[in-house]
Amino acid sequence: MKKQRGKLLQVAHLGHPILRKKNKEVKDINAFLLQTLINDLIATVMEVDGVGISAPQVYEPVRLFILASHPNSRYPYAPKMKPIAIINPKILKTSDKIVKDWEGCLSIPGLRGLIPRFQSVQVEYFTREGKKVKKTYTNFVARIFQHEYDHLEGKLFIDRVESSLDLISEKEFQKLISSRLKK
Ligand code: ZN
Repeated sequence: MKKQRGKLLQVAHLGHPILRKKNKEVKDINAFLLQTLINDLIATVMEVDGVGISAPQVYEPVRLFILASHPNSRYPYAPKMKPIAIINPKILKTSDKIVKDWEGCLSIPGLRGLIPRFQSVQVEYFTREGKKVKKTYTNFVARIFQHEYDHLEGKLFIDRVESSLDLISEKEFQKLISSRLKK
């Protein structure tokens, strides 16, 4: 069931009401339609070289997202992980320390924001096999987790920006990153 190739899904953009709703718990993890949705979400996030995607972003109002950290130009040391499905997640504990870093979102093309997040989070979720997992994520992966978790609550990164001065265009972001890499 798992090894099926997924198909690419349409991504909802800012302004579509689906992105602003609270999403429902997944009831049947083994359901064929849910497993297919997981395959399709993984295929879609890989296609755009993203590090995460949530079900509501593809018009499915359920508490499910994909975590797909891999090294990239911004985070050359980001852990490379096989994309995994996170189902019915809970954030159990958060670190005192908050860190700010750049985020983007497939649903908000062309925009980047400097967003404060907890440096680490202790979380609980179900895997696509239905296993309950308790884990602590830190740094970049913790950031992706919090960003995707927000989607399940109908929240977007722009809601968390401290100042509108912390929002920049993708074009300016690319300039910033390449100048940072040259240093
Ligand atoms: Zn997003």
